[in-house]
Parts: sequence; structure tokens; C-alpha cells
Amino acid sequence: MIRNTNAEVRQEAINKINEAIMETNPCNNNVNGKSAIPSKVSRKPSQKDTIVNINGVLVGGAEIVVIAGPCAVESREQLFETARSVKAHGAGILRGGAFKPRSSPYNFQGLGEEGLKLLSIISKEIGLPVVTEVMDTRQVEMVASYADMIQIGSRNMQNYPLLKEAGMCKKPVLLKRGMMATIDEFLLAAEYILNQGNDQVILCERGIRTFETSTRNTLDLSAVPMLKRLSHLPVIVDPSHGTGLRWMVPSMSKAAIAVGADGLIMEVHYKPEEAICDGYQSLNLDEFRLLMAGLNKIAKAVGRGISTLKAAHI
Ligand code: PEP
Ligand code: MN
Repeated sequence: MIRNTNAEVRQEAINKINEAIMETNPCNNNVNGKSAIPSKVSRKPSQKDTIVNINGVLVGGAEIVVIAGPCAVESREQLFETARSVKAHGAGILRGGAFKPRSSPYNFQGLGEEGLKLLSIISKEIGLPVVTEVMDTRQVEMVASYADMIQIGSRNMQNYPLLKEAGMCKKPVLLKRGMMATIDEFLLAAEYILNQGNDQVILCERGIRTFETSTRNTLDLSAVPMLKRLSHLPVIVDPSHGTGLRWMVPSMSKAAIAVGADGLIMEVHYKPEEAICDGYQSLNLDEFRLLMAGLNKIAKAVGRGISTLKAAHI
């Protein structure tokens, strides 16, 4: 009989301890990259990746999708000029907030329904689907009637009534990770949406709060392979809110693609120095063009492409 090596015996003992932790402590969902969450978001053996269809743009397949646009909708000119340029340089989806979650009640709160109307009109003029945030259960239907995908922001990741309402609406949902949320809490939040019958959900890593203050948040890129391992849902990364620094957005975007992200969402503004909201982390139009050219090389290196990089110039 062949005796087990010390390393094998040790590994067996560790496995037994891990199994015991999984069985006895419901808070310890993550052991060695395995999740104990029994749920609709979990990846079952041999399950295919979910592909989310945003009015014809597919997220979660072989091609990487870049979502770009201003933090907030400010005016027709601002949105149109930004949208036109990001599309010409390969963005697949337009972003822009009409309802803004601001830390101070005295800051610009967004244009509200007027902003939604601009988003809807300009997205059609330009020919890009649009994603925008919803913050209130009472506005889900209205926001969904203007947008191709609704966004639930970091501050609302654990707003359970809002998650349920989003789960009942017929539009895809972009769910951003709460800034204090663990991976399991993030997946359980997504579970609320799936549980209502809406499986068109994209997970977005947007940085978490740590003791580090040199960046706005700490962009947790290890969340990407972890989420992809635990769940079948597409995962995208927001390097704008994740770092809070315009100059760091290109390198973190490349890193996100390299670790397996299915897409990116980033803030781009035609005049970042005049932006009402988050200008310091917004790329200008030329910076976005350069970033897209660099991204294509990384995408190719990991066997992928950027979905609309061949988009017609308009
Ligand atoms: C946003 O994308 O506009 C936003 C407010 O992001 P977050 O919810 O990640 O802070
Ligand atoms: Mn912003």
C-alpha cells in the first residue's frame, strides 16, 4: 500500500476543517473560494454563463462591452457631444445619471425626469442603449420606461424593497457592489432580483472602503475571478468610482480586462473640468479614445475583443 505524503495528510485535515466550518457556521460562506450559498445566482456544475441582452448589446459573452458617459446628465449639449464621441470610439452602451445619490443634500441631485428624457432621446439619436440609476421603489417603472437597463447603485445594494422591485421589472439590471459589502452579501443582493424572476443581472465591482485614503475606494479586482467562479452572472468593473482618479482609469481598466471582466463602466465628459459631478475621475474625449485603443490589445491577449470597436464613426 502506498502511504500518503505529509502534504496530502495535511491537505486532507485542512479539507475536513473547512467542511466542518461550512456546515456549522452559516456566516462562513467562503472557504477556499467555494460558496455555501444555495441560490439562483450560484454557478452550478457545467452551467453556462448568463448573457445579458441590453437592447441587442450582449454582456457576458466573448466580447467585452464598454459602458461610457457622464456621471450626471447636465444638458443636451453635454450628453450629445459625449455620447457621440464615446460611440465613435467603441463604447457599446451609454451611461448617465438623472437621479444622483449625493453625500450632501445641497449638491446637484440630477435633472430627474428631464434627464431621463434627454437620455432616451439622445441614446436613440446616437444609436446606443442607455443605463441609468434608480434610487426609489416608486420610480422603477418610470426609469425603466426611459432606459434600456436600470442601475442600482452602491448605496442601495442592500435596499431590499428596491432590489425586489427591480426584479419585477422587465429591464436588465446593473447591480453595483455596496462599498462595505462582502462578496456573499453582493451575491445575495443579486439573488433578490433573480428571485423575482429577472435573471438579466450584471454585477459591477466599483471599489470598496478600506483604510487606504490615497484612492477614493480600493478597487477589488480579486472580486472579478471570485464572482465569476461563484456565479454565472456577467461581471463588469467601474474604474472611475473604484479609484476616483482620472489618470488611474486606463491602467485599472486594462487590469480589469486581464482578470476576466466582461466589461467596464466609466465616466467620460466632454469638458471634465466643468463637470458638475465627479469631473476629477472623468476622462475627456481624447483620453477615452486612447484608452480604447490600449484596451483592445489586452482584450486580444486574453482571447477576447471589444464588442463595438468597429463601430461606424458618426
Ligand atoms: C454612478 O455610477 O453614477 C454611481 C453613483 O456609482 P456608485 O453607486 O458605484 O457610487
Ligand atoms: Mn459618478
